[in-house]
Amino acid sequence: MAHTHQTDMLIVGAGPAGYTAAIYAARAGMNPMLVTGLQPGGQLTITDEIENFPGFAKPIQGPWLMEQMREQAEHVGTRLQYDIITHAALKDGPDENGYFHLTGDSGDTFLARTVVIATGAQAKWLGLESEKTYQGSGVSACATCDGFFYRGKTVAVIGGGNTAVEEALYLTHHAETVHLIHRRDSLKAEQILQKRLAANPKIKVHWNRAVREIVGAGSPAVVTGIDLTNTQDPTQTEHLALDGVFVAIGHSPSTGPFRNEVACDDEGYVITAPGTASTSIKGVFAAGDIQDKTYRQAITAAGTGCMAALEAERYLAEKNINH
Ligand code: FAD
Ligand code: NAP
Repeated sequence: MAHTHQTDMLIVGAGPAGYTAAIYAARAGMNPMLVTGLQPGGQLTITDEIENFPGFAKPIQGPWLMEQMREQAEHVGTRLQYDIITHAALKDGPDENGYFHLTGDSGDTFLARTVVIATGAQAKWLGLESEKTYQGSGVSACATCDGFFYRGKTVAVIGGGNTAVEEALYLTHHAETVHLIHRRDSLKAEQILQKRLAANPKIKVHWNRAVREIVGAGSPAVVTGIDLTNTQDPTQTEHLALDGVFVAIGHSPSTGPFRNEVACDDEGYVITAPGTASTSIKGVFAAGDIQDKTYRQAITAAGTGCMAALEAERYLAEKNINH
C-alpha cells in the first residue's frame, strides 16, 4: 500500500553527499528522510581500496566506508527509504502548506519542506564485456582515485576531451608511460591542455584508434593489454601491452526526475550558485557529483552535503519554521 511521508528535509541519494547532509540535518533536529535509489552507498560501493578519504591511515574498502556513513546517519535519527524518486514537482515552489511533492517508484508520496538532490553521476563506459570483467583489476574511470596503484607502470587513457587529457597528465606523476587512445585525429580538449600533453615526454598519443578488447591474464585475472582497431581502416589492428586502462569518455549526471525542475547545464548537471548548495528553486539544494563535474571526490561530495544541510536549516529558520 502506498504511503505519504512528511519531512522537513528529503534527501535524494545515499552516497557521501546524501549521508553527510542527513547527518547534519538529523543533528539539527530536522528529522530528515533519505531515499536511497538503486545503489545504496553510491559509487564507492563498487571500489575496493580508498586511500584518500581522511581519517584512515590504511586503505579502506568503499562498501565498508559507506556502511559506516549509513550507520552514523541512522544513529543520529535519519529515516531511510529504499525507493527511487521518479517524479519531483519543484519548479512551482512549495504548496500552500510549504511542502514540495515528490513520488517514489513504490507509489509513495514524499512531502518535504526542503529537498537535497544528491543523486550523483556515473562514468560512461565503452560498453565492452571485458571492461566489466576487469573493473577494479586494471580498469578504472578515476585517475585521482586509482593512479597511485600504477607507480612505474604502463597505462592507457581512452578519450579525447578535457577529462582524458587531464587524466593522462595526472597519471604521468605515477606511471612510467601513458598511452592516450583517441578515436579521431584531433582532440576536443582545450588548447592549453593539448599543449601540456604535447610537451609531456611520458605521453604517447594514438590517433584514430578504438579499443576492440581489454585483455587480461593470471589468477585472479588482471589487465595485461588492449587490442586496438584503426578507425580509418578497421582491418588494421594492434596490441598494446599495459597494466591499466583509464576510461575517460565522460560522465552522466543522474539528474532524472529533476532535469526540468531546477536549472541544469547542457549536460544535465544541476547548477548551484557559486560557493553554495542552492539551486534555482528556493528550498531545493544540490550536493555531490550531481552538481560537480570538476572534483568528483567523496570528500568534496561530503563537503557539499554538509553545506546543503546547513543552508536548508537557515532557509527554514528564515521562514520561521521550527523543527
Ligand atoms: P554517488 O556516490 O554517485 O551516489 C548517488 C546516490 O544517488 C546513490 O545512492 C543512488 O542510488 C542515488 N540515486 C540516484 N538517482 C536516484 C533517484 N532517482 N532516487 C533516489 N536515489 C537516487 N572518490 C574518492 O574520493 N576516492 C576514491 O578512491 C574514489 N574511488 C572511486 C572509484 C570508483 C570505481 C568510482 C566510480 C568513483 C570513485 N570515487 C572516489 C568518486 C566518488 O565515488 C564520488 O565522487 C562520490 O561517490 C560522489 O558522491 P555522491 O554522494 O555525489 O553520489
Ligand atoms: P567530453 O568533452 O564529452 O569528451 C569525451 C571524449 O570521449 C571525446 O573526445 C569523445 O570523442 C570521446 N568518446 C566519447 N564516447 C566514446 C566512446 N564510446 N569511445 C571512444 N571515445 C569516446 O567529456 P569530458 O572530457 O569528460 O568533459 C565533459 C565536460 O566537462 C566538458 O564540458 C569539459 O569541458 C568539462 N571539463 C572541464 C575540465 C576543465 O575545465 N579543466 C576538466 C574536465 C572536464 P569525440 O571527440 O570523437 O567525440
